[in-house]
Amino acid sequence: MSTNQSIKPVTTKVNSSGRLEIGGCDLVTLAEKYGTPLYVIDEKTLRSICNDYKKSFSAYSKIKMMYASKALCTLATSKIIADEGFGFDVVSGGEMYTVYKSGVDMSKVLFNGNNKSYDELVLGLELGVGRISVDNFFELSLLNEIAKDKTVDILLRITPGIECHTHEYIQTGHLDSKFGFDLTQIDEAVELILNEYNNLNLRGLHAHIGSQIFETSVYGDEIEILVKEIARLNEKFGLNLDEINIGGGLGVKYTGADNPPSTDEIAKIIIERLNSAIEKYKINPPVLYIEPGRSIISTSGVTLYTIGSSKQVPKGTKYVAIDGGMADNPRPSMYGAEYSAQIANKPDETSTLQKVTIAGRFCESGDILIKNINLPNPEEGDILCVFNTGAYNYSMASNYNRVQKSAMVLVNNSQSDIIVNRETLEDLVSHDLIPNRLI
Ligand SMILES: *Cc1c(COP(=O)(O)O)cnc(C)c1O
Repeated sequence: MSTNQSIKPVTTKVNSSGRLEIGGCDLVTLAEKYGTPLYVIDEKTLRSICNDYKKSFSAYSKIKMMYASKALCTLATSKIIADEGFGFDVVSGGEMYTVYKSGVDMSKVLFNGNNKSYDELVLGLELGVGRISVDNFFELSLLNEIAKDKTVDILLRITPGIECHTHEYIQTGHLDSKFGFDLTQIDEAVELILNEYNNLNLRGLHAHIGSQIFETSVYGDEIEILVKEIARLNEKFGLNLDEINIGGGLGVKYTGADNPPSTDEIAKIIIERLNSAIEKYKINPPVLYIEPGRSIISTSGVTLYTIGSSKQVPKGTKYVAIDGGMADNPRPSMYGAEYSAQIANKPDETSTLQKVTIAGRFCESGDILIKNINLPNPEEGDILCVFNTGAYNYSMASNYNRVQKSAMVLVNNSQSDIIVNRETLEDLVSHDLIPNRLI
């Protein structure tokens, strides 16, 4: 079993007051102290999944662990993940700057994305990112021009043509994708790098096939394609490419219906298929990058909400409204994502279970956080704890309805520390200006 196979943070328990606690901190006390909605990150769970990955992949000596920071990118979490020995995959100037400010060794950072701007590429070179994953022909030429007299180590992002069974919006490796070079375009890209773009130094290939993946076989197929291409390019162009980045995508357990594989299971298939492909295509063992995002951070995070109004539709649904919703967690309204939750102040009460629908506070009918969940008589003032919100919640948060973004606390050994301040009303208007002619 690995940490991504748990719905709740590893330190979750019901304490002697009959309330939920995580990282030794009573969740009701956290809600009182910091307000709600509140993102809570459990440091033990985060370190535990990092260790699962390291252990599972230790059988391949040339492994390099990266964290895809788009899942959650803050100074404190970056620091912990760097401390666990991970590098970082970043997809914007903002993520790059955040990991830089947290003290990350920038040579362990890969800059990826399908439309990096001129300014972002300049920043990448200034901060000294270790690799840039070039996504398309336009970017090859742009990066070569920006590099001037520097040499930039690059990977080529390719589309391996693998379909994985996940939501259409989070598939990325199928043939008709907006990401990366098609397999039939690689040779042309390599020729340009070798003959025209003298500032670019090609090191290897990069792919990413999707997210919230439960199948293990797709990783085997992906690695076979990458090794085959590396061998073919080395042979055809007399190159010595020795880096393969297979992206991320391992799933997590949002509800009891989800059965993600363990890190051991995916490591086994990846390393087995890699070793056999190395033999089959006769290449030297390459550096293998793996860059999970969701499975690193999701399980360590929960969100606390305060329950407010309720509405019983006659002969219909009972709606229970919370003080957050689609602005702090857009995943249910965006792609029908499902979550598990408990009431933190009465997690064990079973005599009063009711089927309710958790409604967000935002002005959209689609702002429903959880449909048809059994909860013990949810009442005004109860604290709802939604599990597995570490990934793609805060990182996708908005200020819709001009609501301030929530605070985030880190918990460990009964201690809680604010790692992201709650936005204030002043923050909300701080970027607004009234032109003089209106005054
Ligand atoms: C999003 C992304 C990841 C991480 O995906 P998860 O499903 O969060 O693990 C890794 N690599 C690339 C290139 C990505 O775009």
